[in-house]
Amino acid sequence: MFLKGKTALITGSTSGIGLAYAKALAGEGANIVINGFGDAAAIEAERGGLEASSGAGAIYCGHDLSKPDQIEAMMAEAIAAFGGIDILINNAGVQHVAPVEDFPVDKWDLIIALNLTSAFHTTRLALPGMKARKWGRIIQTASAHSLTASPFKSAYVTAKHGIAGFTKTVALETATFGITANCISPGYVWTPLVEKQIPDTMKARGLTREQVMNDVLLASQPTKQFVTVEQVAAMALFLCGDDAAGITGTNISIDGGWTAQ
Ligand code: NAD
Repeated sequence: MFLKGKTALITGSTSGIGLAYAKALAGEGANIVINGFGDAAAIEAERGGLEASSGAGAIYCGHDLSKPDQIEAMMAEAIAAFGGIDILINNAGVQHVAPVEDFPVDKWDLIIALNLTSAFHTTRLALPGMKARKWGRIIQTASAHSLTASPFKSAYVTAKHGIAGFTKTVALETATFGITANCISPGYVWTPLVEKQIPDTMKARGLTREQVMNDVLLASQPTKQFVTVEQVAAMALFLCGDDAAGITGTNISIDGGWTAQ
């Protein structure tokens, strides 16, 4: 329980990678602030489960992080509940796939606001407390797309490259305050979102489940294995520990070799 007495806020943590971070950090005794959208009863069940495993507190903030005033409200609520944010994980993100000339302007604006600008706002609001306490961990779920591009994902690739640069700057500004800032950059991660695409793609392309996974989804991932949410969360947990105090300003790939190509 090495995170007892610490508070972690994880954006976009009602499902997928974010929920795995919340479970991993709760397992080490941290107070948890979860955020994101979804079914109220399911979210309440997860929140209760986090409290049960941590023996500490867990609250849910359903704020829309594409809006700066909502981010300010969430941060104020979290700080009021637990006295400060020690671990900030910027994870909320959405995707849209279209050629640049057809890319809907509202989708561009949403992806930049949520996947990039929200991390600026949460970070600027968390840093004064971290600096005062001389301890902090800032972790971004970036992506292989923070290091390389794919066609038709212009907004996502732009936001993820942006967050990688932002993280380096934050690392330099906080280096003498006991604060670290790092990106974790997954390749394809096995989430319910990915799993749901398989039957439709099998039908649409006349492929087997194995062909969809290997030739479509995992085409760019040399291991031909999905990364798991638990593997991503284990890296975040390591970054929160004392052994990781010297790791800052990095971008850690967990992508089955994707960006080595
Ligand atoms: P997910 O859809 O399961 O999770 C996204 C979370 O963000 C959910 O909790 C959702 O409710 C929340 N969210 C969406 N819009 C929001 C908003 N406006 N305000 C607040 N919360 C909002 O997806 P995931 O795969 O777990 O993705 C999490 C992060 O990991 C994203 O930043 C994504 O870009 C990144 N990522 C995912 C993969 C992958 O293969 N799944 C790979 C690399 C990076």
